[in-house]
Amino acid sequence: MQIRTRLTLQFLLIGGIIMLIASIAIYYSNANFRRNDFNSLLRSRAVSVAKLVLDSYEYNANLILRSGSGYPNRLPEEKYMILSFDKDTLYTSDKFWKLNEINYIIGQVKADKEVILRQDQFEVLGISHSTGLYNFAVIGAAIDKDGLLHMKKLRIILIIVCLISLISFSIAGWFYSGRALKPISDVVSNVDDITITSLNLRVPEGNGADEIGRLAKTFNKMLERLETSFAMQKNFIANASHELRTPLTSINGQIEVLMMKDRTADEYKSALGSVLEDIRSMIDLSNRLLLIARTSAEGPSGQSPKIRIDEILWQAQEEMKKFNPSFHINISPDSSLTDSEQIIVAGDEYLLKTAISNLIENACKYSSDNSVEIKFGSTDRWIKVIFEDRGIGIPEDDIKKIIEPFYRGNNAISYPGTGIGLSLVNQIIKNHNGTIKITSEVGVGTKITLLLPSA
Ligand code: ADP
Repeated sequence: MQIRTRLTLQFLLIGGIIMLIASIAIYYSNANFRRNDFNSLLRSRAVSVAKLVLDSYEYNANLILRSGSGYPNRLPEEKYMILSFDKDTLYTSDKFWKLNEINYIIGQVKADKEVILRQDQFEVLGISHSTGLYNFAVIGAAIDKDGLLHMKKLRIILIIVCLISLISFSIAGWFYSGRALKPISDVVSNVDDITITSLNLRVPEGNGADEIGRLAKTFNKMLERLETSFAMQKNFIANASHELRTPLTSINGQIEVLMMKDRTADEYKSALGSVLEDIRSMIDLSNRLLLIARTSAEGPSGQSPKIRIDEILWQAQEEMKKFNPSFHINISPDSSLTDSEQIIVAGDEYLLKTAISNLIENACKYSSDNSVEIKFGSTDRWIKVIFEDRGIGIPEDDIKKIIEPFYRGNNAISYPGTGIGLSLVNQIIKNHNGTIKITSEVGVGTKITLLLPSA
């Protein structure tokens, strides 16, 4: 069911219930007034009749009753009965009148209570009347013709009013919900136009302050993120293909040149050495790309084995030095560190070592003295590892972008690299619920701080 139809029905239901309650209240309060008014008329008539019959010792009171002179006006179809408390009938204006509740009425009147009840269309009233010596029960009955007619008219009016209000409620509800939902319909029709090739489109935000405006704003923000990530993905594929094609073209060229004529064993050896280097760089790139794909697919790690961060640092140092003997890697604990328990991290040892090796490699690669100062310690519930070098530094504009895949700083172009290392580091640290902070000054050096949650 459409929201518009549902809202209209709810509108109709609420309006209908309110109208029904109001109509019932009006009807019953009117009915009550009518009965009270009529009963007080009947009461004064009954008292008059009792006085006529008992006090004036006038047993043939019917004549006087019919004339109605000097007494309250006659009531429609009125009839009266006077009985002793022993149920002897002293007087009745209608000898065919049969009253089933007579015992009940006398019982109540004896107990000094007034009785009011309904018999068919008749309002029946029972009261006691005393002549001084004796007490009698006086029963009067009459039809409130005007009152009942008035109630009938009221019923018809209320039913008509209810029907008209229900129709008005449904029309008003339909238009109101249509107006209220119009901004949503606009958003929906705009969203329909947005496809993968038109992610630059946005939905109208209206005044941007109400709920729908906020929804449109949130949706636009999501579109912005989608557009960026889609563009990044497109860039990523283009860059990755380019990075893989460069060594492949180089290998192709070298083999073609090699095959032009017969070569000496040394020439073959040197050419193969260069091809091997290109193949290694391709393997390295594909490994990093695979790791990025794996870590971004896995998301933050849950239950992981616990490892000491300094052990990973020592291992990374050893491996880096094996392949790059010129690197100077100095690792030392922070003065704040008091307990080795504070530097235990829950995570993937291989991934963390890869991230740390990348940072060590960058620091040494981009410094003329090929050295890096590493300090580890802890603050609150975090493990802190700082990598500091005195290298070329990173231009301010590049700092935010260097964690994007394949982005390389302006001043780093002459250095070997693919621009994939830091984005892999960032992904690994994010997967371990950690953060990475980079501060740098061109020509002075770079400081990279890793914060990892302590286990
Ligand atoms: P790569 O080093 O292969 O270019 P990275 O993703 O590791 O790729 O680094 C991205 C860029 O960040 C580098 O090209 C460089 O401009 C800059 N960078 C990273 N680390 C350092 C550093 N320690 N000193 C100076 N520049 C750095």
